[in-house]
Amino acid sequence: MFDFYKSLSDANQGNFWNVKPDKMEADLVCPKCSTHESDFLETGYLGCPYCYKVFATSVVKYAQDIHGKREHVGKMPLNQFNRKNKSLQLQQLLKQKEEAIASENFELAAILKEKIEKLMGEM
Ligand SMILES: [Zn+2]
Repeated sequence: MFDFYKSLSDANQGNFWNVKPDKMEADLVCPKCSTHESDFLETGYLGCPYCYKVFATSVVKYAQDIHGKREHVGKMPLNQFNRKNKSLQLQQLLKQKEEAIASENFELAAILKEKIEKLMGEM
């Protein structure tokens, strides 16, 4: 049963209307932009610089995960899809690095900087 009052208290002040019922338990929500941690884990996209603070642990883990994955596919021949993919990935990384710096998450910024340099070396 949908518990309105519980969901209201779970929904970090004013974000109630963006909260999806199946995501109300054990899912961090950014109080600034209402991005869910589970959304970030699915898409790799964060909503705003504040997300870096709210999801810090997951963001660092995510950054390390895709770093590891890319090493496995790095030796495959490049095709157009990969090149397009990499330039999109690069744009995303550059944006994430700027946001990490803006939110003073220098540990993450350093990880992203390494990834960006490696990715640029592959293009
Ligand atoms: Zn946010």
